[in-house]
Amino acid sequence: MNTKKSSKTSSPDVVLIGAGIMSATLGVLLKKLNPSITISVFERLDRVTAESSDPWNNAGTGHSAFCELNYTPQLADGSIETKKAVKIAESFEVSKEFWAYLVENEVIDSPDSFIHNIPHLSFVWGEENVEYLRKRYKALTSHHLFHGMEYTEDKETIENWIPLVMNGRQADEKVAATRMELGTDVNFGALTKAMFDYLEKQDGVNLYLNYEVDDLTRQKDNSWLIEVKDRATRKESKITAKFVFIGAGGGSLPLLEKSNIPEGKGFGGFPVSGQWLVCNKPEIIEKHQAKVYGKASVGSPPMSVPHLDTRMIDGKKALLFGPYAGFSTKFLKNGSYLDLPLSIKLNNIKPMLAAGLHNIPLTKYLIDQVRQSPQDRLEALKDYFPEAQLEDWDLETAGQRVQVIKKDKKAGGVLEFGTEMVTAADGSLAALLGASPGASTAVSIMLELIHKCFAEAKTSEWQREFKKMIPSFGKSLSKEKDLAAKTRAWTTEVLHLSASHLEEEVTA
Ligand SMILES: Cc1cc2nc3c(=O)[nH]c(=O)nc-3n(C[C@H](O)[C@H](O)[C@H](O)COP(=O)(O)OP(=O)(O)OC[C@H]3O[C@@H](n4cnc5c(N)ncnc54)[C@H](O)[C@@H]3O)c2cc1C
Repeated sequence: MNTKKSSKTSSPDVVLIGAGIMSATLGVLLKKLNPSITISVFERLDRVTAESSDPWNNAGTGHSAFCELNYTPQLADGSIETKKAVKIAESFEVSKEFWAYLVENEVIDSPDSFIHNIPHLSFVWGEENVEYLRKRYKALTSHHLFHGMEYTEDKETIENWIPLVMNGRQADEKVAATRMELGTDVNFGALTKAMFDYLEKQDGVNLYLNYEVDDLTRQKDNSWLIEVKDRATRKESKITAKFVFIGAGGGSLPLLEKSNIPEGKGFGGFPVSGQWLVCNKPEIIEKHQAKVYGKASVGSPPMSVPHLDTRMIDGKKALLFGPYAGFSTKFLKNGSYLDLPLSIKLNNIKPMLAAGLHNIPLTKYLIDQVRQSPQDRLEALKDYFPEAQLEDWDLETAGQRVQVIKKDKKAGGVLEFGTEMVTAADGSLAALLGASPGASTAVSIMLELIHKCFAEAKTSEWQREFKKMIPSFGKSLSKEKDLAAKTRAWTTEVLHLSASHLEEEVTA
């Protein structure tokens, strides 16, 4: 990877802060839309994709809402809300379209380097949860994006799907599972790196590693003056750009605050750290081939839903369980303990205090998680793998998430678990806060950003390019069943995935 050492005096059209999947996706989209655009990327660490987008820092689930029960809450009348699930499933299909385009156009050598079929399963126990899963299955499968999902309460079938989860389980326990063959595991790190490798070969693109953005100031002509520091030499430089994307992951909030745009006032951040148990025994890893998501415990944040996850990382199969949530005042895994205190400003202290008061069960949950002993962690694992032994698992630190705290007229402040894009009214700056559903929906998020910030998005040239990169662009995969089936069949083939129900749908 090319690291530039010289002083930065140039004025690129676009500055991307942070070298994670969001900046990579935006960079490639913009370069494809406008090949003459100039882009500088600044990353504070010495490699791309070293924070949340690194494969060991996230769960690598291609979030399609096939197995994540938190995307389908049960409403007060007992029915299942599927709106969010449909939106996430559609967004992931859009991401797959763009990735398939990158493969067909040789931006990425092979899909096998970053995406694999791993069936997505939801698994629950207890009468009430079984009833919920049955209803969820019915509600979801009435929508074409969830065709192919299987449901069973039959123990033998579940044992065939996920033997580790069933072996050693009490015989009289009521259990149920859904299975979606089309589920995926995505190495977002490999994908990000491939996109940066491509960007680096393009004229007018510069990637600066070990460069931290310290400050940004709007100038009279609405361009941005960006102050960057070489972390090795401490040398500071200034550059200007017409457009800035703050894609700094957990580091986005402090930079948004520094930008001083009125749209960025009142936001706060609540960091949640995570840990995984990583299996160290090849015989066990081999016996499992699924991402198994369960129900979150009371008070836990939605992203702490426990899951037993097959991963494919750099050609090697792995098995992870977690995440166990925790609390740290750092906004980045490689950040500073002062991140949280320094982010508190006059304009966000009220929403932050209000969000704190309204989320006592979450605080209690996080404190309990931090105090967990290895035996407590094993007990949680045993819910999904009853015969687990502690010595077969190593504890590793996952990536850091910063949940968004927003002003709220009624409550004063609310804690959000989604993603929040903040854009300056003149479209000269955008920042991405939050982390869920995250990398899986990077393409839809960056398309939305381009439409908000680049007037050219409406021109026939850019519209044509959008359609080349995302064939369903301008149409709705959630509303158009035939289009969704055709699109899925195409991405499944190009990305070397498979799902038996797809062929029937396309030929029907
Ligand atoms: C535990 C965990 C599990 C997850 N599981 C999933 C999952 O299964 N599926 C999914 O789709 N998503 C998942 N996510 C979310 C996903 O990882 C993130 O949404 C995604 O990686 C965010 O990408 P990004 O580019 O915004 O941020 P990052 O990948 O964090 O990149 C931001 C970069 O900005 C750099 N930076 C920060 N400050 C500065 C500065 N001042 N100057 C220069 N550079 C700076 C950082 O060093 C970093 O490299 C998970 C996240 C976590 C933490």
